[in-house]
Amino acid sequence: MAGARKQSEVKMLQTAQHFFDVAAKRLNLEEGLIVLLRHPKRKLIVNFPIKMDDGSVTNFEGYRVQCHAITGPGKGGIRYHPETNLEEVEALAILMNWKCAVSGLPFSGAKGGVRCNPEKMSVGEIERVTRRYAAEIAVILGPDVDIPAPDVFTGPREMAWIVDTISMHHHGEFMPGWVTGKPKLLGGSEGREAATGRGGYFVLLETLEHLQFKLEGARVVVQGFGNVGSSIARFCVAGGAKVIAVSDVRGGVANAKGIDPVALKEHERRTGSVVDFKNTEAITNKDLLETDCDILVPSAIEDQITKANAHKIRAKVILELANGPTTMEADKILHERGIFVIPDILANSGGVTVSYFEWVQDRYRYFWDADRVDERLEQFMTEAFRRVLQTHLRDKVDMRTAAYLTAVSHVAEAARARGLYA
Ligand code: GLU
Repeated sequence: MAGARKQSEVKMLQTAQHFFDVAAKRLNLEEGLIVLLRHPKRKLIVNFPIKMDDGSVTNFEGYRVQCHAITGPGKGGIRYHPETNLEEVEALAILMNWKCAVSGLPFSGAKGGVRCNPEKMSVGEIERVTRRYAAEIAVILGPDVDIPAPDVFTGPREMAWIVDTISMHHHGEFMPGWVTGKPKLLGGSEGREAATGRGGYFVLLETLEHLQFKLEGARVVVQGFGNVGSSIARFCVAGGAKVIAVSDVRGGVANAKGIDPVALKEHERRTGSVVDFKNTEAITNKDLLETDCDILVPSAIEDQITKANAHKIRAKVILELANGPTTMEADKILHERGIFVIPDILANSGGVTVSYFEWVQDRYRYFWDADRVDERLEQFMTEAFRRVLQTHLRDKVDMRTAAYLTAVSHVAEAARARGLYA
């Protein structure tokens, strides 16, 4: 994760609704469907006290938002962030809804979050928050209701605690199907950790083929060096590209000759940041986004490309591995400037796609090897990309509009078949 956090207003919710409105208008959606699809069904806020290590008690606020479950149970991660709030989680649930639909996954969108700063908490404190939050939101979860997963600042460790908490609430019976992104020992899938990066890489390869642009020698800039940013950097370098700048929340590093992502990850593990990596120059997150490059990969948090910097972006392709990194004003500017944007709901769907595989494997208690997971991920990503590209070319709209048209028409068709209840 990275980035100077947000301007004064949250843009992601407006942005997500704006893109839906554009698609709804083009698709001439009936009024009932617009009401049904534009708003989440359920928004839960929970407040709970946690004993901190120093003996004090702190109140934490958590959220879980679910869209209407038209084509399947809710699906989406849980984020820990000091600025997370209900509106952000709502926007992220909506993005999950369209993301699942673009890829044809049998899920609807959901998202969760706890307002906290895990960087300033002990492991014990994070565990207590996780268990209590899970217990509080469990009333609206379930393998056929809503299945959480990791997101910013959460991972397999937190998912393991959630499985344990849920299992303890079921008389100790093992309940792996309630969350995905778990450690493999607890019913997790091969390939889940690198899935968002790998999925993004498959989509990038398809894009470059379409644009007749070679990955070999291409200059790549990555914002964010968590699970997603570090994986995409590795895949790009393995594919012959050069990663020339990388950042995280503390700052960035640049080297026009290329940075080794594996050595950088080791440095980051040792020191807690990419900052001060050998043979690199320091760069701010602001400058990083404006670096002259071929492929820019925002893989941190939302609202990073705004109307303030969109006209200064010097990339040819933007691969949105973060959720909501581009505001709607910026999106328009990028499009007018001829920058090819691979939208978040398509580009970063690899994570939830392997979560889908994990959910399926848990239900069968039959686990696939890594090759099978990767092969199927490639198939899902390639097919999703081609569906969106087809709409992009046929309707002469940008890729984001094409992705929304694909997603919204899919869910609308299902909703129409079901009809409105009462
Ligand atoms: N948090 C990830 C996302 O934003 C993954 C969600 C999931 O696996 O359910 O797509």
